[in-house]
Parts: sequence; structure tokens; C-alpha cells
Amino acid sequence: MKKILLVAFVEENGVLGKATLEALSGACELAQAFGAALDVGLIGERVQQAADSIGSCGATRILAVQGPEFASARCATDSAAAAALIRAAEADFVLAPQTTRTARCMPGAAFRAKGRVDTRVTGLRVDESTLLVQRWYYRQRMVAELTRSQRPWVVLLEPGVFDPWGGAAGHAEVSILPVEPVETRTRIAGIEPASAGTQTIRPDADLLFVAGAGWTKKQSDGEVHVEEAENLIRSFLDLTHASLGSSKSLVDQSGEGQKVISLLTHMHQVGQTGSTPRHPKGLATCCHGEEPHVVGWRFINERRAVNLDPSCGWARGKADVLYVADAFAVMGKVIELLRKDGGEVAV
Ligand SMILES: Cc1cc2nc3c(=O)[nH]c(=O)nc-3n(C[C@H](O)[C@H](O)[C@H](O)COP(=O)(O)OP(=O)(O)OC[C@H]3O[C@@H](n4cnc5c(N)ncnc54)[C@H](O)[C@@H]3O)c2cc1C
Repeated sequence: MKKILLVAFVEENGVLGKATLEALSGACELAQAFGAALDVGLIGERVQQAADSIGSCGATRILAVQGPEFASARCATDSAAAAALIRAAEADFVLAPQTTRTARCMPGAAFRAKGRVDTRVTGLRVDESTLLVQRWYYRQRMVAELTRSQRPWVVLLEPGVFDPWGGAAGHAEVSILPVEPVETRTRIAGIEPASAGTQTIRPDADLLFVAGAGWTKKQSDGEVHVEEAENLIRSFLDLTHASLGSSKSLVDQSGEGQKVISLLTHMHQVGQTGSTPRHPKGLATCCHGEEPHVVGWRFINERRAVNLDPSCGWARGKADVLYVADAFAVMGKVIELLRKDGGEVAV
């Protein structure tokens, strides 16, 4: 019988994150497809609350590594903990969500367990007892399905591939594994947000709001209105909790000494040389919709754009709806309507 292990890091408030619950759904589906046994391996400061929250998931065993040294992300301790779980579970397939934490430690854990790892996996399929994983290459231009003979095979699943597991909670028996003390030079003194900009990147948001360079260009009155643009963008994000993205032209302006929108960093850039975020909906404003930008929208299903130019890139089949209009006026009106709604709005 094949064995599957889900490795999950417990959040600092003791719960399991959305990406982890999605990976759990994937692990349950895979276990069912193979008729395999599923173990869950938890890592965190305290794991019982998280274990109970998935008490009815059908796992054969819930294994765990716990202690204060496993509370925060640190490659040395996280890799050691994950490797201990993989060895104890003797799993053929090890699934974990693709997060910054797992991306750093799971390749090391796979190496220690003499296995192989694939990251950024966007689909799982079982074909005649063979697991096939889907992965994109060349900045999301080519998609491939691949399999491996080496075991354990560690697979990191991208968020958004499976629905989050939503079964009932229930008391779970947890087997705590010992882990040899790990020599580490990193002490965690506290956590500070990386930069102001990152707080507006919200991978779980339903809407991606993209700001293009048009926000900083001369407008019909011959003037630039960068402060007004920033206020409109900030208000919209505050009211909708949308995630902020940008075109390359706009984020590059900071290096060229122009007046810039202070919310933006290069981490916001969407496109060929930027990110490829996953949100159900996207709204592009003052952005031309050129191909190198729009390739970053590959996973955005419903697309709308506001642009003064009726023959911009969005008009050429890249958006479902193009509003040929002044984004300053449109967003001002939208914000007014959102405020009237008391900010309670589905976007
Ligand atoms: C190798 C390579 C890689 C690249 N990678 C990326 C990438 O990863 N991401 C990326 O974004 N770009 C990338 N680019 C650049 C890309 O080709 C475009 O130059 C860039 O996306 C243009 O940004 P923009 O649409 O914001 O600016 P612009 O092309 O300047 O467009 C501004 C738009 O704003 C509109 N506008 C102005 N005022 C208003 C208003 N009041 N209301 C409504 N609309 C208004 C204008 O009509 C115009 O369409 C790459 C280019 C190359 C060559």
C-alpha cells in the first residue's frame, strides 16, 4: 500500500493556514485515488489545536514535531523537523503547500531523506497507479506533466489548486516525534514586515488591482496628479482589501527620479519579468495591457480594465470588459459608492 504524508506548519496563532488546508484536500484526494494511507505531519510551537481542527480528515496518524524552536520559520530547524516526519512516515509521496517557509526548507528535507522535490506544482493526476504532477515552465509559457521514480517524492502545491479542506473538527491523537537538537546560528528576535509595500500584496484576495504608469502621466489639464492617484489607489485598497499589482513602467520610475506612488515596490510588478499572481478577478487601471505585462495575468479569470485608449492592449481580447474612461474619475466614483456602502462590498 502506498503511503502519503502531508507536512503542515502550524501558524503562530495555533491554526492551519488556507494554503495548508488546500494541500490537505489535495492529499485526501490523492490518498483516495491510490487507496493509500494518509499521515499528517505537523510542525509548530504547539500543535494540538491544529490537529483537532482537522480531526475528521481521515488521516491514519497525526505525527508532529513541536517546541518553541519550531514556532517561526528557520531553515535549519524546519528542515530537520520535516526530515524527521518524512522518515517516520516512510511515505512514498510527501505533499506540502507552496509557501515561503516550505520553499526554503522542504528541498533540504527531501535531500536528507534521500528523496526528490518538485516545487510550484499546479495539479495532481493519477494514471494507472502513477502519480503525475503538473508544472509550468519558462515563466508560465509551457505546461508539463511529469512523474518521478525516486521516493520519497516531495511535492509543493501552489495555492489555489484545491479547495480548502472544510471538514469537522474533532479530538485527534498526536504522536510527538523527537528531533535531535539542531545547531543553528540564527536566533529569532521578533518579526517586522519586510517593507511598507509588501503589506498591499495579498495573495488570498479575490481581486488584483493593477496600477499602470498612466497614473503618473500628464492628464487632460496638462498636469500630473501623483498624490491624487496615490490617495485613490490607497482608498480603494483599504475599502476592498484587494491585492495591489503594478506594471513594470510604473515600478521602474522609482529608479528614474520621477515622482512615484509610494505604495509600490518591484515586488508588485506583474508580468513576464514580474509575478504571476492567482486571484479570481483583476482590474487594470491606467495600464496599457501590453503582452509582457498581460502574461502575468495567466491565472486571473475575470479581467476588467479602465483606459482612455480604446485601442489599448486590453481591447484586443486581453480583458473581458474594457471601460474607455478616465481612471481618476472612475475610481473616484467607485470609492464614493463603496463608502456609501459602508465599505462592505464584494469585489
Ligand atoms: C523583456 C521585457 C520584459 C517586460 N516585462 C514586463 C513585466 O513583467 N511587467 C510589465 O508590466 N511590463 C513588462 N515589460 C514592459 C511592457 O512591455 C510595457 O512597457 C509596460 O507594461 C507598460 O506599462 P504601462 O502599461 O503601465 O505604461 P504605458 O505603456 O505608459 O501605458 C499607460 C496607459 O495609461 C493610460 N492612461 C493614462 N492616463 C489615463 C487615465 N487618466 N485613465 C485611464 N487610462 C489612462 C494610457 O492610455 C496608456 O494606455 C517588459 C518589456 C520587455 C521588453
